[in-house]
Order: sequence, then C-alpha cells, then structure tokens
Amino acid sequence: MYDVLIVGAGPAGIFTALEMLRNKSEKKIVIIEKGMAIENRHCPKTKTKKCMNCKPYCHITTGFSGAGAFSDGKLSLSYEVGGELPELIGADFAQQMINYTDSIYLEFGADTKIEGISETDKIKDIRKRAIQAGLKLVDCPIRHLGTEKAQEIYHRIQIYLLEHGVEILFSHSCENIILDENMCKGAVVKNVLTGESQTIYANNTIVTVGRRGALWFEKLCLEHSIGHQPGTVDIGVRVEVRNEIMEAVNDVLYESKLIGYPNPFRNKVRTFCQNPGGFVSQENYDDDLAVVNGHSYKELKSENTNLAILCSHNFNEPFNQPIEYAKKIGELTNMLGANKILVQRYGDILDGKRTWQKELTRSNIKPTLPDAVAGDITSAMPYRTMLNIINFIQAVDHVVPGFAGTETLLYSPELKFYSNRVKMDTNFNTNIKNLHSLGDSSGWTRGLMMASVMGVLMGKTLS
Ligand SMILES: Cc1cc2nc3c(=O)[nH]c(=O)nc-3n(C[C@H](O)[C@H](O)[C@H](O)COP(=O)(O)OP(=O)(O)OC[C@H]3O[C@@H](n4cnc5c(N)ncnc54)[C@H](O)[C@@H]3O)c2cc1C
Repeated sequence: MYDVLIVGAGPAGIFTALEMLRNKSEKKIVIIEKGMAIENRHCPKTKTKKCMNCKPYCHITTGFSGAGAFSDGKLSLSYEVGGELPELIGADFAQQMINYTDSIYLEFGADTKIEGISETDKIKDIRKRAIQAGLKLVDCPIRHLGTEKAQEIYHRIQIYLLEHGVEILFSHSCENIILDENMCKGAVVKNVLTGESQTIYANNTIVTVGRRGALWFEKLCLEHSIGHQPGTVDIGVRVEVRNEIMEAVNDVLYESKLIGYPNPFRNKVRTFCQNPGGFVSQENYDDDLAVVNGHSYKELKSENTNLAILCSHNFNEPFNQPIEYAKKIGELTNMLGANKILVQRYGDILDGKRTWQKELTRSNIKPTLPDAVAGDITSAMPYRTMLNIINFIQAVDHVVPGFAGTETLLYSPELKFYSNRVKMDTNFNTNIKNLHSLGDSSGWTRGLMMASVMGVLMGKTLS
C-alpha cells in the first residue's frame, strides 16, 4: 500500500514526487512508467538515419522525464505560454509558481542565461511589424536547456528521487484504475516486457500520461465517468527555413511566439516550438501514427530553423472527438507518404502542384529530416486548416521577410493532442475521490514548464 501512486514519469509526475521530498514528506511514493530509465532511452535513428518504429514504444516520448528528455528543453518562463493552467489557478499565482519551479531547474543545473529579455529596441521593431501584419507578439523569456543538457538535468532528478526512496517501476504500463464506488483505490499495471499484471493500491492516484496517453485517458474518463470536456486539438505543419531568413528574430528572441486570426475563418493560428539551428524530427505513436516535431541541441547546430504553425480546432455537436479528427488527418497524410513524414515546398502549394524529390535536392534548404518524403500535403489537409496556414505564413512574411519564400518547407502531419480537459478544482481533485490528473493529458498544460508547475503544486498539496 502506497500513499501516492503516480502514473507517468513525465515532468508533471516527477515534479510531484520531487516537491514532496523537498517538503520533507515521508509518504511512500511509487511512480509507474511505461518506458525506461533515462540512461536507457536511445533513439536508434541517430545511427540508422531513419525511424525504426520501435516497439513496444517510441523512446523519444516514453521513459523517465517523458516527452521532455528528448525535447528541445525550452522552458517558457511566462504564464501566457504553455497551456490554460492560469485559468484554473490564477495568472499571478501561476507566474509565481513558474519562478519557483525555474529555481528548481537551476538547482539541478539549468543554464543561467535567459533568452528574449535584452535588445528591447530590436524587439520593439519586431512587435511593430507584427502589429502591422495583424499578429500579436507574445513576450516570453525562455531558458533553453537544449536536448542533451535536458537529459543531464532530468538524469540528476531521477537519481535524486531514487536516492530519497521514491520507487520507480520502469517498463510498467497502467492498464486501468481501481474504483470502489466513487473512490480511486489504485491501479492495475502490466509489465510491458513480461506481460504480467499486478494491482497497486494507494491513498492518492495521479494520472499524468502526457500527449501520448491522452487518448487512453479519454477512454478511461468515459468508462469511469471522470468529469471532462472535449478540448482543443491543434493541427498544422512544421515549417523549415534557412537560418539566414530567421536570424533577425532568432538573435533577439530565440523563439518568436506569434498569434493571428487570419481571414476568412478567423481561427486562432500560432507559431510554436521554434528551433534555431535545429532539426526536424519524427515521433511515432503506439498505433504507428507518424507525426513531425522539432528540437535543437545546445552545441550541434544545423543551417535551418524550424517551428510549428498550429491551428486550433474545437468541436461540440454532434461531433465532439477532436483527437479522433486529428488522427484521421494524420493517418491520411501518412498513407500518402508511405508512412513517412510528407514535405512540400510552400511555392508548390501556391502553384497547386506536389513537390518532387529532385526539386528538394536543388533547393537552398536541405531538409533536416532526411527520410521525409516529397509530396503533396494539401491532398490530406482540410481546406480550412490549409487556408489558415497559407494566410498566416503570408502575415509572418511581413515580420520575417522571406518566410513565405518558394523554397520554405512544410512538413506534415504536425498534431498536438492535448484535448480532453479534465474537470478539477484548484487542488487538482477530479470528481472521483483521491484521483488527480496532471500535465498534458489533463488538458491544462502543453509544455515542460507548465507541466512541471502542475506537478509542484500537486506535490505541495500531497506532502
Ligand atoms: C520532440 C518534442 C519537443 C518538445 N519541445 C518542447 C520544448 O522545447 N519546450 C516545452 O515547453 N515543451 C516541449 N515539448 C512538450 C513537452 O515535452 C511536454 O509538454 C511535456 O513533456 C508534458 O509533460 P507531462 O508530464 O504532462 O507528459 P509527458 O512528458 O508526455 O510524460 C508522460 C509520461 O507518461 C508515460 N505514460 C504514458 N502512458 C502511460 C501508461 N499507461 N502507464 C505508464 N506510463 C505511461 C509516458 O511514457 C511518459 O513518460 C516537446 C515535446 C516533444 C515530443
């Protein structure tokens, strides 16, 4: 019998345990993690140069520190970025907790440098051009850990947790939660290597399974009547341009967070996860869905900058399954790309033609995702989403001249599944007693810092 059972060792889960230890809690904590310890997480693509579709899971998103370990490790230090948690706990308090959580990252070795707070005249000029283009520039200081440094920091946290008595069951997947009337008593977990199942009982159970677990958790919500509402799903593309095009923005902001509501639909469209000198990457979901992402290293730099352009989609009646909607678009795109990521030049989209491999070869921009397949993303992208993206790129071109260039690369599918917002009070209690939900799978966060903050707050409550 444990005091606290945490399902998922992503930032939200590990910061829950960490904060409990920092508060000198002597409660018995166990973490269930489907993937491996951080030192055993290896993506074979660095050697094979192509995605090997690892089974039983993808090492990029699964294992200690979750999707964070292999992420770019950009900590967004503003409450305006990273999800809707401030709506639940209040903006000022959220900012206070971001500052506190940032200090923990610093204790574990994060770089002291903060990007995006100097060169105010240059930022003013970027903002002016954004306003002229009908876009909003969001101020967000960034602490850039970098993919390799992020792994070192999370490794130190893993050692700290283990040395202070937190039990971590790696290669164990949660199959279901155990309910007794309206109270959660623990969970059924399966060893993914041996197939053996066991029941773990706990006074408090926290489900924090990230974007990859969002669909599974949505099913759990339906099965056990856990209060939730369909949230937003983001569908878009990963854009890649030469560093020369982006350097005016990269040099002063590192990441330009731009938001617009382009005509004719006026849906929210935004930039996300910008990686100067970065690499476009592929991640595979358990059901083989291949989606595109991007990251950057602290030392190893490419000649390109990549960033996501995302359109938010909401549904209500008669259809309310945003994750399924996005998945269908992903599957269609994967089908057209023979299960690889599709890439198309922006100019070809405007000309109404597919992109050919030989056209990519003679471009100034060399794709940093070498096994992406040249093709036609417009054959799978809904009209509304495609038009939103095209018009948004035209607007960004006013801020970053050359962004809407013929050779600009658009990779697809770029999907963010943080749908299904769990209904909770400010202590993250669901309508099921002793069951809590954190991080990206709760629908309240969508980034490392905000997920970590949610974990810190949970840890304080449970200490
Ligand atoms: C390539 C990439 C780059 C990114 N770059 C950034 C960035 O620069 N800045 C930023 O702020 N955010 C970034 N993100 C997003 C960020 O990583 C996530 O928002 C964050 O990790 C969410 O934390 P979490 O704890 O909610 O979930 P996750 O980090 O996804 O962790 C969930 C954990 O739960 C485990 N799990 C899932 N299902 C089960 C189950 N049934 N049983 C047991 N365990 C389970 C998973 O294996 C995983 O380890 C990036 C994501 C990716 C994939």
